[in-house]
Amino acid sequence: MANNQLCKLCGLLTPVTNNGVCESCTEEYAIIYNFIKNKPTATILEISTATKISLKKIN
Ligand SMILES: [Zn+2]
Repeated sequence: MANNQLCKLCGLLTPVTNNGVCESCTEEYAIIYNFIKNKPTATILEISTATKISLKKIN
């Protein structure tokens, strides 16, 4: 019952969640979300440096 689709973020053909994003990107998104929650003034560059997630994905 795998629902393989292109992930909206990384573009891999992979099982995705309801919002069209794969599991690993969902995890990264959660990390970014938490970071922004703690530091709303952070720039994209700061977020990328702190989370080691590429600028492309955050954007
Ligand atoms: Zn992905």
